[in-house]
Amino acid sequence: MSPRTRRRRRPPRTPPATTADARKVACHELGHTVGLRHNSSKGTCMYQAPAAADSATLTSTERSEINGNYS
Ligand SMILES: [Zn+2]
Repeated sequence: MSPRTRRRRRPPRTPPATTADARKVACHELGHTVGLRHNSSKGTCMYQAPAAADSATLTSTERSEINGNYS
């Protein structure tokens, strides 16, 4: 057996998480704690896949929904 055939395959690499990813996930999870649900808009942090969202802040609609939940 040659050394080449004994090599183990490396697992596929995932890109490292960034500070921006952490902010999006934090916004998303905090949104859940105040009653927000997932949505299908990538422009909000409540997008169903938070790291793929384009925003790390709540939209005015989401803020209004939170205010409605606690009024
Ligand atoms: Zn979620």
